[in-house]
Amino acid sequence: MPLIIVTGLPTSGKTTRAAQLHAYFASRLQSQAQSQSTSLSNPPPPYRLHLISDATLSISRAVYDLSPAALPAHVRSANASEKDARAALYAAVKRVLSPRDIVILDGLNYIKGWRYQLFCEAKNVGTGCCVLQVGCGVERAKGVNEARLRRREKGREGQGGEGKEEEAREDDREEPYEPANWENLVFRYEEPNPMTRWDSPLFTLIWEDDETQTRAVFDKIWDAIAGDGRKVVKPNQSTVQRDKDPGGDYLYVLERETQDIVKRILERQSDEGGGEVSLPRVNNPGEGERGEDLVVELPGKKVGLPQLQRYRRAFVALNRGGIGLEAVGKLAAGRLRESFVGYLNDAFEKDG
Ligand code: ADP
Ligand code: MG
Repeated sequence: MPLIIVTGLPTSGKTTRAAQLHAYFASRLQSQAQSQSTSLSNPPPPYRLHLISDATLSISRAVYDLSPAALPAHVRSANASEKDARAALYAAVKRVLSPRDIVILDGLNYIKGWRYQLFCEAKNVGTGCCVLQVGCGVERAKGVNEARLRRREKGREGQGGEGKEEEAREDDREEPYEPANWENLVFRYEEPNPMTRWDSPLFTLIWEDDETQTRAVFDKIWDAIAGDGRKVVKPNQSTVQRDKDPGGDYLYVLERETQDIVKRILERQSDEGGGEVSLPRVNNPGEGERGEDLVVELPGKKVGLPQLQRYRRAFVALNRGGIGLEAVGKLAAGRLRESFVGYLNDAFEKDG
């Protein structure tokens, strides 16, 4: 599962851990390459390692700031800049992610729908994804931000004096968050839930974890990603692929297509439950439009409307948008159906 999503509160130590993990992987990869080159006549191509973060893409902390005072006059809406930032991060991940590329994504990654999109993207390229949560008490994280704010103030005061500014910057080059922005991000943070497919496997490191503990967790991540125990990922199951806008209102199409799938499953499942149900790729297909049917594999017992509606609502919530990928275009109805069927198959498999 070569995508590692780092998540945690603002100023909780994410970048520190991401850098440690990067160094750890670099050394593991090096020793793997060395041992393979001596023991195998035809060693597999080595993994490539990437670290992507707001800093590597020059995304400012200010993009997360929703307070009106922080908005330049031309900005479209309160979180437009954050959406643009997410689109940039998404594109950067997409550009390099593959089964032979390990990508560490260092960032807040605090929206569960966003983590879900990344999970789908990984699956789409035939690889997996895991989450590393950096745990840190709110007060300590706040203290780190306050120290950075103080440092910035000092830097500003020293701006008149020769050379002083540079000294302050060298000390800690990370920008602080404005206090209201910081508070708001803590409030908006959506904890990873290891019961969901997109937040699992979930690894955790806390601030106090020493070198030994950190190494033990990194070893586990390595095993999951590059070790023998790693899962083979079937691409294109719950994959969300985006087309140009098919026209019509996206949310309406999302509701309509998922409702249609639920209705057809209820109509077509057998009385004893289980087995497969075939569904048309498009609602009311015309001549020549039919294509290969989508197939839902049902769990052993009959599924009821409440259960299907629960999955449907979860899927709708994840795909409702507002996570910054609108720029890429919206899901065509057909893709939406395919994606929802993939989601159901995954859910039934996990529950069954
Ligand atoms: P984030 O990326 O979440 O904003 P950083 O990794 O930049 O956080 O860490 C913020 C500050 O806290 C840095 O000065 C870093 O050196 C310090 N720090 C981070 N993690 C730890 C830790 N586990 N123990 C001690 N200091 C830490
Ligand atoms: Mg950081």
